[in-house]
Amino acid sequence: MKTIKIIGAGLAGCEAALQFADNNWQVELYEMRPGKQTEAHQTGNFAEVVCSNSLKSKLITTASGLLKAELKILGCKLLPIAEECSVPAGSALAVDRNIFAEKVTKIIQNYPNINVHREEVTTLGDELTIVATGPLTSKKLIGELINIIGDEHLYFFDAIAPIITSESIDESIIYRKTRYNKGEADYLNCPFSKDEYYVFVEALNEAKKHEAHEFENKFFENINFNFYENCTPIEELARRGKDTLRYGVMKPVGLDDPRTGRWSYAVIQLRAENNSKTSYNLVGCQTMLRYGEQKKIFRLIPGMQKAEFVRYGSIHRNTYLNGPHILNVDLSLKNKPNVFIAGQLAGVEGYVESIFSGLLVAKSLVEDIGKINELLPNTTISGQLWKHLITVQKKFQPMNANFGLLPPLKERVRDKKLRKQMYSERAIKDLQSSL
Ligand SMILES: Cc1cc2nc3c(=O)[nH]c(=O)nc-3n(C[C@H](O)[C@H](O)[C@H](O)COP(=O)(O)OP(=O)(O)OC[C@H]3O[C@@H](n4cnc5c(N)ncnc54)[C@H](O)[C@@H]3O)c2cc1C
Repeated sequence: MKTIKIIGAGLAGCEAALQFADNNWQVELYEMRPGKQTEAHQTGNFAEVVCSNSLKSKLITTASGLLKAELKILGCKLLPIAEECSVPAGSALAVDRNIFAEKVTKIIQNYPNINVHREEVTTLGDELTIVATGPLTSKKLIGELINIIGDEHLYFFDAIAPIITSESIDESIIYRKTRYNKGEADYLNCPFSKDEYYVFVEALNEAKKHEAHEFENKFFENINFNFYENCTPIEELARRGKDTLRYGVMKPVGLDDPRTGRWSYAVIQLRAENNSKTSYNLVGCQTMLRYGEQKKIFRLIPGMQKAEFVRYGSIHRNTYLNGPHILNVDLSLKNKPNVFIAGQLAGVEGYVESIFSGLLVAKSLVEDIGKINELLPNTTISGQLWKHLITVQKKFQPMNANFGLLPPLKERVRDKKLRKQMYSERAIKDLQSSL
């Protein structure tokens, strides 16, 4: 029986572990929590989702939905578990994060050929190893990676949204509705009048934000870091223009306020954190504001005057490697080919994308890489995500599933919805015939 060492029992590491175990490999899985926590994880459970509880859309006409469909065809292990632990979220797949993580932990701990080691790994030896330690990889292991690859990787910071209790919401103002009344009304909506909206934007602009250098320490001296565009803090968006938010995360379209029968000037949506709906996430309100400022400003949201915060938003370190320069096509390190990189550290972005990369690395070792090339056609999101990790580009940045990755259709299709449908049908057909 072949043996693989996997470092990190997050989304990528757990998917990889289950794939190897099912293919009769002995898995030695290392996880440093709960003994040593990251800045964002809260438990010792595996596959803990640290920020939003949404794994994004299930709709096949979205890139994220297509990636899920592709993963299912490829035999993904974690997605079916996520579905079992889902909470209502319209067309999105959202999970009860505790139930999901507990379930994955239990399954892995009881798997016959997976050995779990609760310890931090700080060095990389000569055994076959997958590093799936994620965006919050421990500093000592980053030090070891720097020893191997030089400092060809970047560091940057990410922001997460606050969570409030449902009890503290004013239901005479906040209402449950789905855009254009399509599907289940799983989201709560906080409607802003014009005046309320500009007061909120003004408050965000005036708020004193955390400066990133407060989070620097000796280790990060002399290393570049940037803010991550896909998770831009709400105060940063507000600063870009007084109407940026209401044309973006706060857009009111299709959300008739039952009190007026009309769309409001802007809306903030709340998404359930668990099935019992005892707490809600402020969608799009990831922030770097100080806790005191958050309390003051988010209580300006109509219906949230008495909001009780379960978790405040915060900024976090987010680390990834410059994959195209340091990785081989099978995601092994050019300078140390017995070590493979998976998950966000490799340069994918997002929960489902990280699951995919765990599956990809496992398949590239269990099968051979030539076969993977045939298995993942160019017309698939998974094929293109893989290419992204290994294709040299001007400024390498983490990538999530999006239709922009796919080659154009043969014919020109003007209708956006139909075009997406056709992308998806082509991808699934090509993937199925490559199996
Ligand atoms: C703050 C934050 C918020 C995010 N929010 C979202 C979001 O809302 N939606 C989304 O789709 N994506 C989000 N992401 C991005 C990313 O998709 C997730 O972080 C995802 O969990 C990455 O999966 P992973 O398997 O690569 O890493 P993780 O799931 O983080 O797993 C890595 C594991 O490795 C362990 N570990 C680290 N170092 C060591 C070591 N030296 N030895 C042993 N174990 C170690 C960690 O404890 C952890 O359990 C967020 C990232 C961050 C940092």
